[in-house]
Amino acid sequence: MTQPGINPYTDPTARRAFLDREARLRQLSEVETDFVRLGDMPDLARWLDQIRATGGCAVPVYLAGHTTALASDTGEILRHYTTATEPNGRLAVRCRNRRASRCAPCSREHSGDTFHLVRAGLTGGKGIPDSVRTHPRLFVTLTAPSFGRVHRVGACHPARRGRCEHSGRHGCGSTHPATDVLVGQPLCTACYDYPGHILWNASAPVLWKAFRDNLYHHLAARMGVGRGEIRRLTRVSAAKVAEYQRRGAIHFHAVVRLDGPDGPASHPPSWASTDLLLETVRSAAAAVALTLPWSAAYGDGRLRFGTQLDAHPLAGSDGGRLTDDAVAAYVAKYTSKSVESAGAVDRRIESLAEIRALRVTSHVRALIATAWRLGDLPELRHLRLHAWAHMLGYRGHCLTKTRAYSTTYGQLRADRADHARTLAGVRDLYTDWDDTTITESAWRFVGTGHTPAEALLAAGIAEDLAANREIARQSAGERS
Ligand SMILES: [Zn+2]
Ligand SMILES: [Zn+2]
Ligand SMILES: [Zn+2]
Repeated sequence: MTQPGINPYTDPTARRAFLDREARLRQLSEVETDFVRLGDMPDLARWLDQIRATGGCAVPVYLAGHTTALASDTGEILRHYTTATEPNGRLAVRCRNRRASRCAPCSREHSGDTFHLVRAGLTGGKGIPDSVRTHPRLFVTLTAPSFGRVHRVGACHPARRGRCEHSGRHGCGSTHPATDVLVGQPLCTACYDYPGHILWNASAPVLWKAFRDNLYHHLAARMGVGRGEIRRLTRVSAAKVAEYQRRGAIHFHAVVRLDGPDGPASHPPSWASTDLLLETVRSAAAAVALTLPWSAAYGDGRLRFGTQLDAHPLAGSDGGRLTDDAVAAYVAKYTSKSVESAGAVDRRIESLAEIRALRVTSHVRALIATAWRLGDLPELRHLRLHAWAHMLGYRGHCLTKTRAYSTTYGQLRADRADHARTLAGVRDLYTDWDDTTITESAWRFVGTGHTPAEALLAAGIAEDLAANREIARQSAGERS
């Protein structure tokens, strides 16, 4: 409503309010029209089943096609599914994005899968024997070194006399709450080593690989056996997740386990104790030092982990206090987050002009711009810094694990597919039939995403499913 006496045609503020209201009304009617369209859809119930089977995915992918399973000897059709009879001739499947900022329901499911995957490697289950609980197991955090002082949560750097050469302060003297936007921002941006930070993030996967190799080398040295021999005696299994700190540097949180030579089902050698693993992890991390062949213009290019290294035994293995569930939940939490937690953006950057227009802190903008600039250098081309500028240089996966650590996302999905099939009455598109059948299928992409009314219905479905899961979890907790 405009106030009496103020004319929206002459008063700019009133005009803006009037136009906003008009726009809202237009929007509302768009959703309403869409709801009417959905209501008229003869197979609405079937569409709702599909969306329920995707868990209320916010950005479903629509496919059209068919799958036919034939008996390999007789050619008899055993099963046949086609989208021809589905609403609009198409089938919705999950987007499977792990990021909560893109699709909350799929991210939640991915976190759940990660929890089970990490947990199975700690306590057994999902095809992993329970005896892994008796193997030496550690929860390890590998940090990045300092690239310059940043404001930190709690008591920040003490206030000090004098200024740096850019007239920036050496200290701060404040106490910052965790919500303070200053946390993670450099005390002096001119002193901050932006190229070093970006190149460290970009090389973090290589550092992790060097750490794992070192674990074997240091175990070999401690036990007085050759480097080739040690891999015939024991296997280091690990799962790690990458976390962005507030300053935008990558940290790795990892579960490290010592197995026998054949992985989780084989007993580690008698000398393989938790203390030995603890000492080896410390020396292996401290020894990582890579000199990569980049431009002399950016220092000596020596890369190391930060001096702060946390390594804790897990409960059950020699008196550790950390529980398996707590560690699995901790790791799973990080897979739904990414570079957003450092205040960066979750989409690729296309141009330098785009970086200037981003709504980010000056620190994040400087990091992204540095990545972009370094991406122009021929000697750094292999780091693909233009493509990964929005990730502040890091191009690794959020979660990686050694082959023998535990089950896979694919296996967890296949286990769940049975359930989804029953729910939707849809033959799973990814199932491998056994040897006696031949599968013939053809699928094509026909679209993605929801219309405004569909989005509201899907969000409602996702909420219901989450509430049901919560109730089931609580009642399971009461029973146990
Ligand atoms: Zn989704
Ligand atoms: Zn501060
Ligand atoms: Zn300075």
